[in-house]
Amino acid sequence: MSTDGLPDLTDTDIKSFLETAPLYSSRRFKLPMMPRQSLRIEEIDSFCEICKQIRPFHNNVQRSTQVNKAVGAAFLLPVQLSTGKCSFSFSCVSCKKSIRIYLVEQIVDDGTLTIQKYGQLPRGGIPRDQTLQKFLRDDRDNYEKAVICLSHEFGIAAFAYFRRIVENNIYRLLDLLLEDLQSSGGDEEHFNAIQSLREASPMSEKIKIANLALPGHLKPDGLNPLGRLYQVLSEGVHNLPEEECLKKAKATSECLAFLVSELASRKEHRARFKSMIGEL
Ligand SMILES: [Zn+2]
Repeated sequence: MSTDGLPDLTDTDIKSFLETAPLYSSRRFKLPMMPRQSLRIEEIDSFCEICKQIRPFHNNVQRSTQVNKAVGAAFLLPVQLSTGKCSFSFSCVSCKKSIRIYLVEQIVDDGTLTIQKYGQLPRGGIPRDQTLQKFLRDDRDNYEKAVICLSHEFGIAAFAYFRRIVENNIYRLLDLLLEDLQSSGGDEEHFNAIQSLREASPMSEKIKIANLALPGHLKPDGLNPLGRLYQVLSEGVHNLPEEECLKKAKATSECLAFLVSELASRKEHRARFKSMIGEL
């Protein structure tokens, strides 16, 4: 098995794997250069249901020294990870009451390490973006299916649902954009660009227009989420490998969530400002 292109295993990778990887999903790494005896890490972050906020959770299992004792004279030789299973138990540093338990299988093969999560307590929630949920209220069914597929890392299905969501809701998104441009006195060029996205034209043309249609405040670091959404519409799911689809599904979800929440919060601020000033 080739290790080309595989990331080195770090504590940060293990932490994010425990925190976010769905049950039965796996990740592949290069075996670390510095031999490590186990996958043990000391801390993760999680939303504590008792403290009602994200808290650090500390490993509450005593570090084992048994392996070193057993090898006796070879005590100083570093031991590298081997195929097996391990469990993790963490508790919230604040309340010490809520716990997180994970079961992980590791397979070491020819310089590569594959880890799979096969157990987790409590059950992980499926993250839904509330603003997006509200915006997609008429397309709730597709959005539910999309987030469920995403949470299981079913990339092809997730991408297909998100693509459908973009297709169904792109005009409503353009309406929100126009409204935002109108009330903030946005420039005419952006206004005309958004208008022309409503007209029939080849998708390649629309991607070009969408890439120029957003004002600076909707393009974090120059990244244009509207351009990305039109790109998604131009791509078929066929031919794309599972992993690529998963990446695209996540990116689509982020682009939609960013645009909808930015536009919604600007709208809310405008309304609040108007009602305050109106009373003066
Ligand atoms: Zn707590």
